[in-house]
This record gives sequence, C-alpha cells and structure tokens, in this order.
Amino acid sequence: MKTVNSINFLNKRAVIRVDFNVPLNDAFEVTDLTRINAAIPTLKKILKDGGSIVLMSHLGRPKEGPTNKYSLKHIVSAVSKQLGVEVKFVDDCISDDAFNASNNLKNGEVLLLENLRFYKEEEKGDEKFAEKLSKHGNVYVNDAFGTAHRAHASTAVMAKFFNSDSKCFGFVMAGEVESITKVLNQSQKPFTAIIGGAKVSDKILIIEQLMNKANNIIIGGGMAFTFVKAMGGNIGKSLCEDDRLETAKKLLEKATEKGVKLFIPTDAVVADSFSNDAKFKLSNIKTIEDGWMGLDIGNESIKQFGDVIKNSKTILWNGPMGVFEMSNFENGTKQAAFDIVEATKNGAYTLIGGGDSVAAINKYNLANQVSYVSTGGGALLEYIEQGSLPGVKAIEG
Ligand code: AMP
Repeated sequence: MKTVNSINFLNKRAVIRVDFNVPLNDAFEVTDLTRINAAIPTLKKILKDGGSIVLMSHLGRPKEGPTNKYSLKHIVSAVSKQLGVEVKFVDDCISDDAFNASNNLKNGEVLLLENLRFYKEEEKGDEKFAEKLSKHGNVYVNDAFGTAHRAHASTAVMAKFFNSDSKCFGFVMAGEVESITKVLNQSQKPFTAIIGGAKVSDKILIIEQLMNKANNIIIGGGMAFTFVKAMGGNIGKSLCEDDRLETAKKLLEKATEKGVKLFIPTDAVVADSFSNDAKFKLSNIKTIEDGWMGLDIGNESIKQFGDVIKNSKTILWNGPMGVFEMSNFENGTKQAAFDIVEATKNGAYTLIGGGDSVAAINKYNLANQVSYVSTGGGALLEYIEQGSLPGVKAIEG
C-alpha cells in the first residue's frame, strides 16, 4: 500500500485531504480534537522530510456557500497548537489568493484552505473544480477516511490529476484500509461478525456481504426482534420492522445455505416502557408478553455469544446489543465489549467500527484493548458493503 512513507517530500508541496469536520461550541472553539490529532502523524512526516502542506477539508453541511458558522478559520489555532507549527489560512479554496498562498509556501510551512463545501462543485465531484484543487500541490495525499465513501472532488476525483508516484494514503487512511482488509480478506478463522443496533434495514447489505466471509454472525440489539418475529416468536412491543420480515427470513435461509452460523438471542431483558426507570425482567425472547419490549439481550444469550466471541480469531463488531445508553439495559453490550477484549488478549484480531459500538467501547474505556477502532462510521460500513471505497480506489487505481 502506498503511504506517505513511500514518498520523500523534500521540496514537495503536499495537498492533503483531511477530515477536520470537528465539533465546535457556540464560541467556535473545537470541543473534540480527535480528528485533528489523528492527522498529525501524517503532517509531521511530510514536514520532517522538508516538504510543505496545503490542507483541505469540509466542515459541516453548508447549504448556501460561505457561512461564518462553517468557516475553517475557527479551527486554525487548534490545528497550529496540536501540530506545533503556525498554520496559515486563506478564506477560499480556489481563488487567486488561495493559489498565491499555496505557491508562496516555503518548506516546513502549512496552509489551510477554506471549507471545500462552500462550493457545490465539491460534493458534485466536479472535474474542473477537482483539477483546480490539484494545482495546490505536486503530491496528493488522502487522509480523510471519514469521507472516503463519497466520490467528491477532493476525496476521489482530484486523484486522477496526479500520476501514481505522486498520490498516496496518509496514516489514518492506511490504518483503516489495512484493518478492514485484514478482517474481510485475510481473516484468520473462525471469523465472527457481531451486528447490532436499531434497524435491520440499515444492515441488510452488510449481513449479506458478511455471509461470504464470516463463519459466525451474531445478531443483537433492536434488529434481533425482526428476526425473532420472522421465526414465529412473540416479541410484544419490541422494535420491529414488519416490512423486513421476509428479508429476515431470507437472511436466515441464506445463512443455512452458506453454512454460516447465525446466532439470534434466546432471551432478553424486557421493559414496560422505553426508559431506564421502566419496570424490567428477563424473558424468553420468543415469548415476550404483550406490553413489554426487549431492550437488551439476556444472560443466556450473553453467555452463548461470549463463548463464540472468545473462541474467534477475527472479530468485527458493529452495533450495540441493547440500549446501552441506559444503565439497566447496557449489560449485553458491556459484556460483549469485555469478551472482545478477552479474545484480543488471546490473539484475535478485533475491529470495532461504525457508530455506536465505538461509543460503547469508549464508554467502558476499552478502546486501547482491542486491535483497531475505526474512525469512519459510514465509510467503514460502505467498505464492507462494496468491498472498497471511491477514495481508496482513486489512490490504488
Ligand atoms: P445503530 O445506529 O443502528 O447502530 O443503532 C444504535 C442504537 O440502537 C443505540 O442508540 C441503541 O440504544 C439502539 N438499540 C439497541 N438495542 C435496542 C433495542 N432492543 N430497542 C431499541 N433500541 C435499541
């Protein structure tokens, strides 16, 4: 894989797509530095070589061109501080001023361009806009995994204006691609995918794809109840997508055809309302009484899933096992997290990614006890569905 380590940046100007879509408070201060910090190793490598840097990013979803709220000027001081280099800023990304600023950069200097999405051409993947952006540097680096599933001008299209020796992945992108490749294409068996969260409809394609790769698929969270109902169970007022019952049945059949073991919970913690203050009790998952809803997996399921997890050599976890935000219904998710940590200690490769399972692993302070925590929710899920991403293909060719 071609990374910034494959290129000597001495006297080169790298134009880098980063993901600086960071949260700001009312005073326009950055409230979470994770994404900025993630990009720092890539930037430091280039500066250490003796190159200069033009940074490009989006911030938020501006609808009507330049808007103060979405200006990247607000993050300049935070990036400067984290990098230890005074970052210059220009209030456009393709104006004459912008090109003057990038052309005048000296080795060791860093320039941040204004929000790419102030131009509608960015999200449209406009070629002319992409070509203009490409003039900011002589090497293109993509380090924005969070937007790599978009075929936008800066995330994919502009790569075509650089030859294969002059484009590469930054360390964030490389880490993500290596990790997902390890899980999807080089997995040591048994490979177990744990899929949870609210809706089956969001995860159908992923489950289908994983049936071609995994030995075991564990289903938890709200989506499990659609499967239970499809199997003839009584699920009370648990979350259910009635228009997906047929899909659930087909997935169950497909698993049998493919020899993939699909694990559905056998018991649940049921509550009389969607609240941490609700009355709750344990129930067989197929005989939930009317008026009760399943908000977590039960002890028997935790034990069964735990045995599968701890005997796996590769694990992908996407989506919580229950409503882990409420303490009375967090046990299934918490135990899964600890079981994944134990599997990691026993030598399994474990990837946590896509939305709320990342929030869960962070809630229990276990992020540094698993193999990899993905930074790109939608991008990771789309990688699993599609087998690659526009931003990855654009570099790999
Ligand atoms: P997703 O974004 O699809 O991964 O869904 C995550 C959300 O699903 C979390 O906010 C959980 O609280 C929610 N969730 C998990 N299990 C259940 C359940 N049994 N009933 C309702 N919501 C659930």
